[in-house]
Amino acid sequence: MNEIIRQKGKTSQGRLLFINPATAQAFGEIATTDPEGVSSVVAEMRAAGVVWGKTPLRERIAVMKQLYQLLFDEIDEITAVITQDTGKPRQEALIEVFTSLNYFSTLLKKAPQWLKTERVGTGLQFFKKAWIQQKPYGVVAVIAPWNYPFILTINPILGALISGNTVVAKGSEVTPAVGALLQRYFGRIPGLSDKIRFVFGGGEVGAALVAAVPDLVYVTGSVETGRKISEAAAQNLTPVVCELGGKDAMIVLADADLEAAARWGVWGAFSNSGQTCMAPERVYVVNSVYEAFLDAVQREIERLQVGYSLQVDAKNHYGSMTFPKQVEIVTDHITDAVEKGARIVCGGNHNGMFYEPTLAVGLSESMKVAREETFGPVMPIIPVNDAAEAIQRANDSPYGLSASVFGEDEAQARRVAAALAVGTVNINDTLTHYGIPQLPFGGVKRSGTGRSNGKAGLLEFTQPIGYVSGKPKSFDIATLIRKPGNYSLAKGALLALLAPTFQQKWAGVQQLLRR
Ligand code: NAD
Repeated sequence: MNEIIRQKGKTSQGRLLFINPATAQAFGEIATTDPEGVSSVVAEMRAAGVVWGKTPLRERIAVMKQLYQLLFDEIDEITAVITQDTGKPRQEALIEVFTSLNYFSTLLKKAPQWLKTERVGTGLQFFKKAWIQQKPYGVVAVIAPWNYPFILTINPILGALISGNTVVAKGSEVTPAVGALLQRYFGRIPGLSDKIRFVFGGGEVGAALVAAVPDLVYVTGSVETGRKISEAAAQNLTPVVCELGGKDAMIVLADADLEAAARWGVWGAFSNSGQTCMAPERVYVVNSVYEAFLDAVQREIERLQVGYSLQVDAKNHYGSMTFPKQVEIVTDHITDAVEKGARIVCGGNHNGMFYEPTLAVGLSESMKVAREETFGPVMPIIPVNDAAEAIQRANDSPYGLSASVFGEDEAQARRVAAALAVGTVNINDTLTHYGIPQLPFGGVKRSGTGRSNGKAGLLEFTQPIGYVSGKPKSFDIATLIRKPGNYSLAKGALLALLAPTFQQKWAGVQQLLRR
């Protein structure tokens, strides 16, 4: 592998080079942030948050609409930078931008409803009013990965800002050009330029950011990093939202439309060179359709063109891998599988950063490719006896990000979906669940502790603060039970109002009447 590509993601003499992994060309650089200076950046954003957090939501939305407009004006520049930073086709870069702007548009419309102060009942304190206000945390640290460097950096920033937080963002060191671009865009919106700071560098800068005690950490990355950050944040009890890795299962039931399952399964597994957290990485196929599905998948794979171009109308389906280390991981998984007896039906090799579309069968649970996150253009296909075995094997994993189920009988597909221990299930498609802005996305088990998208995703950036108002009235039960000497009255009220059986309630009423 070319020497310059090996520099990708590595800090050298206080700078990070922008390196195109597909062409091995440097196309810019940015100075890294001194880890020792990160706490003053957090302090600066904490000071800025005092005003922003109190700015009415409609004013925050008005400011953010300027950014929304700017992003539309710069779509082609954004996709060009993403493509150079990652090696993915312009159209795949556009899907990132499309999905992000769709989410942004939903946020602008829905935030007033989702963040609205909510009146709640006061239970037995009949004469009071109670309400819940969603308050921003303060300073949110957004730590992002390289696989979708635009959407996974900007979306949490948007959620954090619209709900009244200020932000210190650290994009991935592997894709610093996208981070630099975002820094430039936010700098162009006067109402936002002092509400966000970007820091640049590797894990050491991320660790300094966590150690600087922001009010919330929102990390998208690997399970290992999520664990390290959670451990470090625990020193200060800083809350952490983790959006982590997966080993998503795809299930093909006996009645599936096999052509569709092959087409959209292959699309999900190979787009973005397989570097997608919710890519199908284990395909469980019911025996009766296994051979036919395998044939259909092979036909789909034969159509795939792998290559690189900066042109918007390029015909390649996917591009280079983004990070040299990821090529090593994929190679290791395939070597391990072959050594343990797997058959590589096609692919299995790479030319520099370009990894062939790879189809693996004859797998066992001892193989890395069947259990660990591969994060590359590899589709492992595993036959199972029936839906029950597919569910059991899909759930036999420490991960639980998302899954897909293919079947024509919608009711059966829904039953299978409901039995899966994951955060989201996509029936008869792959990946697209992330693109529905109102649908929460996130993992169970080791795949994460929080949600992005939807109301649940937005409320990750706020704390529900409770308020209650009202002078104690002398005849209110909540007042009467405070007064010494009222034990039997209080017990009578407790029984009459809350006891589980009629007899106890009636005993309570009698006790009250005796008073
Ligand atoms: P990574 O864990 O290596 O890095 C993520 C970010 O954490 C980077 O910015 C990195 O610099 C930073 N970091 C690393 N060590 C740190 C530390 N000790 N303290 C603070 N920050 C630290 O992940 P990656 O390789 O960039 O991304 C790929 C992973 O992300 C895959 O596992 C993928 O499944 C996962 N992912 C998850 C989602 C999701 O929504 N659940 C989405 C995309 C990617």
